[in-house]
Amino acid sequence: MSARQLRKPLALAIHGGAGVIERNALGADVERAILADLERVLDAGHAVLATGGTALDAVEAAVSMLEDMPSFNAGRGSVFTADGRHELDASIMDGHGRRAGAVAGVSTVRNPVRLARRVLEDSPHVFLIGEGAEQFADTQPGIERVSNDWFDTEVRREQLRQAQQREQAAWHASQDLRGQYFGTVGAVALDAYGHVAAATSTGGMTNKRWGRVGDSPLIGAGTWADARCAISCTGWGEYYIRNAVAHDIAARVAYRGDRLQAAAEDVILGEVPAHGGDGGVIALDRDGNLALVLNTTGMYRGWVRPDGSRGTAIYQEP
Ligand code: ASP
Repeated sequence: MSARQLRKPLALAIHGGAGVIERNALGADVERAILADLERVLDAGHAVLATGGTALDAVEAAVSMLEDMPSFNAGRGSVFTADGRHELDASIMDGHGRRAGAVAGVSTVRNPVRLARRVLEDSPHVFLIGEGAEQFADTQPGIERVSNDWFDTEVRREQLRQAQQREQAAWHASQDLRGQYFGTVGAVALDAYGHVAAATSTGGMTNKRWGRVGDSPLIGAGTWADARCAISCTGWGEYYIRNAVAHDIAARVAYRGDRLQAAAEDVILGEVPAHGGDGGVIALDRDGNLALVLNTTGMYRGWVRPDGSRGTAIYQEP
């Protein structure tokens, strides 16, 4: 049956990360380029849904496109670790059947979200890390490999230099990472079959060490999808893990019957900052209601609602 015959509402939202993004700091050209990138991803993701693709297909397509765009902290353009390398994390979840796949600490996989999808489809597991994830990638013909320096960009190298300078100046100050991250990417989609899915991908946090993994590849923290709603997070990952943010939003909808917007606001504007963290979220329910909530000055984001209306935004206030 085609998407048209089913005539169910379609919806999609994407993010390119939250953080301290001050108006005027980016410059008009950079702003325009980022918004144009977001529009292209919306077009591509929505086309998947409109031609009968599943929500899972749409979030994979949207996130892998964002991974290939150097402006975002995922895939090409990922931040640097303390030793000047890249370790990438991603996850994907299908609300229909609650299947999930995730990878962390991969360093040669061009599109980690595609590998996460392969984990979901082709392995008996949910979450693979580091060398083992790369060995699994060796068994997957469709997974493109690149050298680690393929992810390099000058902007991210400069961010590492600055983070390390701050660290030398004052170790204590460098522990406060509020608003220091931006560029993680994610997508949530509702397909013509009434199913939702979510995916998230990141290079993590600048200057990370010791194999640090944030919330993005953790099912229930950075990503969640069930029969009711789909959620992708961005922010200071340690706080998103400690608050099981993605699942907490879904649980409020499931157990208390909260509206999605109220659930997302309670967690992102209440729980996360109350514990000292910050960031944002995109969420979508099976009726096509969208919630895009942030407690930082900005979050790159875009959306298409079931009635076809769409938009992109960067700052807290439009
Ligand atoms: N949540 C990501 C992490 O902690 C960072 C981000 O959202 O930009 O790895």
